[in-house]
Amino acid sequence: MRRVYIDNAATTQVDPEVVKAIIPYMEDKYGNASSIHSFGREAYDGMEKARKQIAELISASPKEILFTSGGTESDNTAIKGVAYKRRGKGRHIITSSVEHPAVLETCQSLESQGFKITYLPVDKEGIVNIESLKKNITEETILITIMHANNEIGTIETIQEIGQLAHDHGIIFHTDAVQTTGKIPIDLSKLDVDLLSISAHKFYGPKGVGALFKREGTSIEPIMNGGGHERGLRSGTENVAGIVGMGKAAELARSRMTDDFSSLTGMRDRLIKRVLSEIEESYLNGHPTKRLPNNAHFRFSGIEGESLLLSLDEKGIAASTGSACSSKKLMPSHVLMAIGLDEVQAHGSLRLTLGRKNTRDDVEYVCDTLVEVVRRLREISPLWKREDIAAAYAGREPLHTHI
Ligand code: PLP
Repeated sequence: MRRVYIDNAATTQVDPEVVKAIIPYMEDKYGNASSIHSFGREAYDGMEKARKQIAELISASPKEILFTSGGTESDNTAIKGVAYKRRGKGRHIITSSVEHPAVLETCQSLESQGFKITYLPVDKEGIVNIESLKKNITEETILITIMHANNEIGTIETIQEIGQLAHDHGIIFHTDAVQTTGKIPIDLSKLDVDLLSISAHKFYGPKGVGALFKREGTSIEPIMNGGGHERGLRSGTENVAGIVGMGKAAELARSRMTDDFSSLTGMRDRLIKRVLSEIEESYLNGHPTKRLPNNAHFRFSGIEGESLLLSLDEKGIAASTGSACSSKKLMPSHVLMAIGLDEVQAHGSLRLTLGRKNTRDDVEYVCDTLVEVVRRLREISPLWKREDIAAAYAGREPLHTHI
């Protein structure tokens, strides 16, 4: 059976060139980057090369890059790091209602420690309301943390405007760029951003490794204490092989950015066009133009997302829904609720996220399958309009439904 992976916002396939770059650091160059001997120096050199490759991808300086275990740790380090460092100055943080849990849960944890958090609303396309941001800034505000692009609906926020506003008020600005790094250009020599989170596995690097950009002069309190690695800001022996892989992934992303961008947007737009024109009562979630090049997020009336996902899986298609599994029940996504959908609409949503490996043929296969699966599910859906049944039973005796 044909298999199509179209869930690249969840994770990506490690690029074969990245795998090739990692292997020597598993087999031969396995020293601890802190060791003085030649094995240590080899590992250290690999790590520093990666620091440079990542800095180049985002137009930063290598000394502004800290290695972490991924996007979640970068978000925690930035947000808690600023909160603890600046708590004497104020205890107010502003974020948005559509952030990834790595930001939202971190903010909630700070709330329980006495910080005040403002969760800004977004409009129906997922854009943060700047007027509301302005109104909520107080003397106590020490940090604004707003994501660069949303991991579910793909909406890209106007981070330069937000950063400028933050700086006008002497506030630190952090952005979670986990979904944008390597996909769209990021030029930190021009952006008013003090801290920016990166995760390697979203741009064809390995899982469990990430980076935090920290602009020179921005102070944070370390949340990982120990041997003083990463200039005392993130203790713990560095994941050298993973870091080398992330560096290679950054180098590839930089050299392929233009080609990847045009191929992804071409496939995304084809997907959107076919779905919206061939499936009745289908809608695009998120912003029509300010969206990630690889993201197409739909909702379908009369469809339950989990059934859709399972039916697609049966046809070899790996996608994602608008629901999140909690321990007991299927919760509608907080992002879809924040853009004004109701629970039924949120549960009827589907995220398709393209990657470098996808082809035009994949897109046609996904569209053909989707048209067929949505039609079949609607035939048996109690949520879908039932005029067909009403017509079939028109003029007959009422059915005894209580048997
Ligand atoms: N932030 C965003 C926007 C994400 O999409 C993700 C991962 O899905 C994360 C943070 C967490 O990154 P990681 O999986 O590297 O911890």
